Amino acid sequence: MCNTFNKKFLDEAAKAQENTSSMPNTNKEFMSEAVKAALKGMANNEGGPFGCIIVKNGEIIGRGNNKVTSTNDPTAHAEITAIRDACRHLNDFQLEDCIIYTSCEPCPMCLGAIYWARPKKVYYGSNQQDAADIGFDDEFIYKEIPLPYEKRSIPFEQCARDIALEPFQKWSEKEDKIEY
Ligand SMILES: [Zn+2]
Repeated sequence: MCNTFNKKFLDEAAKAQENTSSMPNTNKEFMSEAVKAALKGMANNEGGPFGCIIVKNGEIIGRGNNKVTSTNDPTAHAEITAIRDACRHLNDFQLEDCIIYTSCEPCPMCLGAIYWARPKKVYYGSNQQDAADIGFDDEFIYKEIPLPYEKRSIPFEQCARDIALEPFQKWSEKEDKIEY
C-alpha cells in the first residue's frame, strides 16, 4: 500500500530533520502553546492532560487537546484532534512541511496517525515514562504488536479473505481514484 510514496516521504523527512534542529526559542514557544492547549483542555474537563499544535512556515495552523472523555471518542488524542484541525485548515490530507509539537511523546495510535499525515518533524515534551508515571501507560500496546495474533489481549483472527479482497480488486481497477 503506497510503499513507493512512503519511501520517498521517509527520505525527505530524514533530510528535513537535518535542517530543522536550530531554533531553540521558537521551539520552546511552540511547545508552550501545546502545553497551554493541554492545560486548557484539562481545565474545561475535555479530557486528559495532553495538547498538540501544528506549525507550517512559522504559523500555527492546527491545535488540539485530548477530548476522549468529553466526546466519548477513544481516538480523540491531542495529536489526532490537532491533525484533523490542521488538515481542515490546509484543506489537504497531508501535513506537508508541517512540524508537530506535542506536549507528550505520542502513543502508538498517534505515531501511526503522524506517519499517515506525513509532517516533516515531531517535537515532543514529556516522554512515555513521564506519562506512565501518572497512569497513562501505552507500553503495553508496543508489547502487543510483535505478539502472535492469538496471544494478543484482544485476539485477532482472519476470516473470509476471499470476499474481503473485492474492494482491493476494484481499487486496482478504479481509474478516478485519488492516491495518497
Ligand atoms: Zn495518542
